[in-house]
Amino acid sequence: MSRQLTIAIDGPSGAGKSTVARSLAARLGYIYIDTGAMYRAVALKARERAIAPGDEDRLARLASEISISFVSKGEEIRVFCEGEDVTEAIRLPEISRLASEISKERGVREALVQKQREMGSKGRVVLEGRDIGTVVFPNADVKFYLDADIEERGRRRFNELVQKGVQVDFEETLQEVKQRDREDMARVHSPLRKAEDAVVIDSTSLSVEEVVEEMARIVEERMKGFDLGVTN
Ligand code: C5P
Repeated sequence: MSRQLTIAIDGPSGAGKSTVARSLAARLGYIYIDTGAMYRAVALKARERAIAPGDEDRLARLASEISISFVSKGEEIRVFCEGEDVTEAIRLPEISRLASEISKERGVREALVQKQREMGSKGRVVLEGRDIGTVVFPNADVKFYLDADIEERGRRRFNELVQKGVQVDFEETLQEVKQRDREDMARVHSPLRKAEDAVVIDSTSLSVEEVVEEMARIVEERMKGFDLGVTN
């Protein structure tokens, strides 16, 4: 029986992390954890409860107290927060902005990192986010850093929103992705950065299938290495 791996996928917005992470997890029969959805769920509840983005104490308490879970429904994975299905609500552009803002707060990060470690503690898991390989699971068995050109990431984000029926402008979407990148990379606590031992994949001119294929090949190689007692 192969070792139960913990796989980390980090990278900027729009690099295609969610789609490939979901697909890689399904292919391996692993659990998929979308950590961005957790920051988004906290942002949504903070807005509903009128908690200001700078109110660190209340935000940290909110992040530690609310329940967040992922439920598979066929091919789909739905996000529940406090018993409510928030899958669509957390994808709205204003929640993207707010999630990026509240994710700067150390208390919020600590509360969510703890939840993520509990969810992933048994292995057989693919976690996707910004700080998985650097902070949440620094000893993950396989780490990927998925990147793509900024224009391409803006285009993907735009298409995703259009498909969901959200009315957006391309230039505005591109600026939003750029702004989130800046904020995610410049923040003091757990900024987005590539872990030293992460494998970088540039998805600009690759299809989802090609990226997943490449990741699965690397994971299988790593599994074989573990089975033979080779660690690197
Ligand atoms: O990945 P997604 O775009 O859904 O994440 C929303 C926001 O949550 C990101 O812009 C980032 O600020 C934050 N985030 C984070 N750490 C993670 C995952 C997401 O700070 N591990």
